[in-house]
Amino acid sequence: MASIKILLDQCTGCTLCVKTCPFGAIHMHERKAVIDMAKCTLCGSCVAACKFSAIELEKAAGPKRDLSAYKDVWVFCEQKKGAVQSISYELLGEGRKLADKLGVSLCAVLLGSGVEDMAAELGERGADKVYVVDHPALASYQDDPYTELLTRLVQEHKPEVLLCGATTIGRSLVSRVAIKAGAGLTADCTGLDIDAKERLLLQTRPAFGGNIMATIVTPNHRPQMATVRHKVMKEAPVTKGRSAEVIKKSYPEEAFASRTKLVDMVAELSSTVNISEADVIVAGGRGMGSKENFARLEELAKVLGGAVGASRSAVDADWIPYSHQVGQTGKTVCPKLYIACGISGQIQHLIGMQSSKTIVAINKDPDAPIFKVATYGIVGDVNDLVPALTREFKRVLNK
Ligand SMILES: Cc1cc2nc3c(=O)[nH]c(=O)nc-3n(C[C@H](O)[C@H](O)[C@H](O)COP(=O)(O)OP(=O)(O)OC[C@H]3O[C@@H](n4cnc5c(N)ncnc54)[C@H](O)[C@@H]3O)c2cc1C
Repeated sequence: MASIKILLDQCTGCTLCVKTCPFGAIHMHERKAVIDMAKCTLCGSCVAACKFSAIELEKAAGPKRDLSAYKDVWVFCEQKKGAVQSISYELLGEGRKLADKLGVSLCAVLLGSGVEDMAAELGERGADKVYVVDHPALASYQDDPYTELLTRLVQEHKPEVLLCGATTIGRSLVSRVAIKAGAGLTADCTGLDIDAKERLLLQTRPAFGGNIMATIVTPNHRPQMATVRHKVMKEAPVTKGRSAEVIKKSYPEEAFASRTKLVDMVAELSSTVNISEADVIVAGGRGMGSKENFARLEELAKVLGGAVGASRSAVDADWIPYSHQVGQTGKTVCPKLYIACGISGQIQHLIGMQSSKTIVAINKDPDAPIFKVATYGIVGDVNDLVPALTREFKRVLNK
């Protein structure tokens, strides 16, 4: 058990800890700090902030684990109806870099029914080994058997790092595996790297409402587990003819048991273009000025065969539905072309689009932060430039 306490004779009543605590868990009473244990998460930020060493945090060491027994970088590869999902290729691309930095193998994990043939594809995308569990009970994703099997694999083979997509399936699966394997989990990462000296996975994600980017490490537990947002990392390239060692695993029937039963799958019907999959996105922000002006983006998007995206300000102004919002609390996109019109480029927006291949920004303010990530910047009024671009693209593309 961990505990925290104020050393009253050292506390000067300076209130620095009160200002530092992100959870509002500290107040002053008779010029001494008091911690509300109902709010305190034992994060330790007050300990670091206190200049008088007046706060003591003790974390129980727990039984010592042999971390050296863990090696290799693993990627859980999601597949649906016979196709590997693109998030898996993105994770293999990033996983390859991490495995090379650690000097270990990159391993893919493939669970499903009739999935064995997909292992070859994962080899061409950079996996050195592919662990396959092929069983009719795994035809569709079910929490119980998928969790049980991935946990058994982890406990048997002890990966150093385990990556999974921050998708509906990934989030549901890997949080369960983390608990069963006694490991930590950093959800929704937007950046990964390796501290080669300490063999630590550096897991970066937005924190405190997106106001800071936090890099999280897991020094005491293995595997180091992270979910990663879709479309943030580049897909692993295909190397034709490259192959992976395929390791087929089988388990007793009880490992495939499920407390739930899949009754039916109903496809979502949507009349709008899904911005997550679009190659071209024309996005607008508060700078578009009005709902009528915003509607002009539709025309430009149509000429370019793309979809319309939006900043949160445009969504909040009710110029376009939330399903079009790009950013931290919206969608992450990675189109070939992203045209940002009247968007300032706050970090919460950039998180969702900065890995787009080509970014064109139109803004009347030459110092707008969006220009820092833009491939091409146009300083000017969107109300002149958007119609002009639409006209010119229509002419050039013969539309
Ligand atoms: C927890 C949290 C989560 C968030 N999540 C998201 C998110 O998912 N997505 C998101 O987008 N934001 C998000 N935000 C909000 C974000 O911080 C910004 O407020 C928002 O992105 C700003 O939108 P904007 O760029 O459209 O507006 P503004 O910042 O107001 O920028 C408008 C820009 O338009 C330019 N402009 C004005 N008129 C013209 C003109 N006529 N021609 C050309 N340029 C013009 C201005 O120079 C300015 O740069 C979040 C914030 C928080 C705190």
